[in-house]
Amino acid sequence: MKMIPASDISQAVAAMCITANRELPADVQAAFERCHAAEDSPAAKEIFRQLLENAALARETGLPLCQDCGLGVFFVEVGEDVKIEGGSLRQAINDGMVKGYKDGYLRKSTCDPFSRKNVGDNSPAVIHFDIVPGDTLKICMMAKGGGSENMSRVTMLAPAQGWEGIKEFVVHRVAEAGPNPCPPTIIGVGIGGNFELAAINSKKALMRTLDDRHPDPAIAKLEDELLEAINQLGIGPMGLGGKTTSLAVKIKVAPCHLASLPLAVNVQCHSARHKEVVF
Ligand code: SF4
Repeated sequence: MKMIPASDISQAVAAMCITANRELPADVQAAFERCHAAEDSPAAKEIFRQLLENAALARETGLPLCQDCGLGVFFVEVGEDVKIEGGSLRQAINDGMVKGYKDGYLRKSTCDPFSRKNVGDNSPAVIHFDIVPGDTLKICMMAKGGGSENMSRVTMLAPAQGWEGIKEFVVHRVAEAGPNPCPPTIIGVGIGGNFELAAINSKKALMRTLDDRHPDPAIAKLEDELLEAINQLGIGPMGLGGKTTSLAVKIKVAPCHLASLPLAVNVQCHSARHKEVVF
């Protein structure tokens, strides 16, 4: 049995929240550089130049990449042979997130849904737990902004709609979202499962790096097909037109009820802030 102090977890989560908000992941940075070179339109080129400058400034100054520092979303894999000492895992993660947002001067974005009064410390963290074999604890953190989350959708297709129905829904969603989710976006697609699992999988899919090929070549091909169709929309970076509306499409598939074809689209903006830590 591996013992992990709750205080170590809180400390690591606080650090992750701060660095996620200041350091653009290397794969996203590389994609911006590629797109900057590939775009023909001066406006699209200029947006990528600004995004690269923004990332450099955030790294140098310690200011957040975006004023919307997001909700703290966590995917946690808890080994069956892991025990947390000195507190609960949920509390340790939440405390760490609160500390990170406070110490990093990150915007606190959680509020009461009716009064809209700010909770004040960005809590509660949104945490999804998975129990896995072994003695490892893996915590993946995502700072998820409101603009892109608002553009996300879940639908229950009829099974007969199949791949064509899925493609139509995903591409239409991106088209309808237009400039609102701050493109270039990354599109997470959850296919199958049930209503809530499709939504969770669509967000989990966003934790993959941009250059990660889906292990199933058939799904990888569908990801390519969706990305091509989305980029043909011509929405472009920040909606100003161009070749790059999305940087990648990531699909996560789960078996579903024979009467259903659940589908979720989680839209991630260009400020794709995520980090992970393993104990
Ligand atoms: S959608 Fe993303 S880039 Fe746009 S304001 Fe929100 S967090 Fe920032």
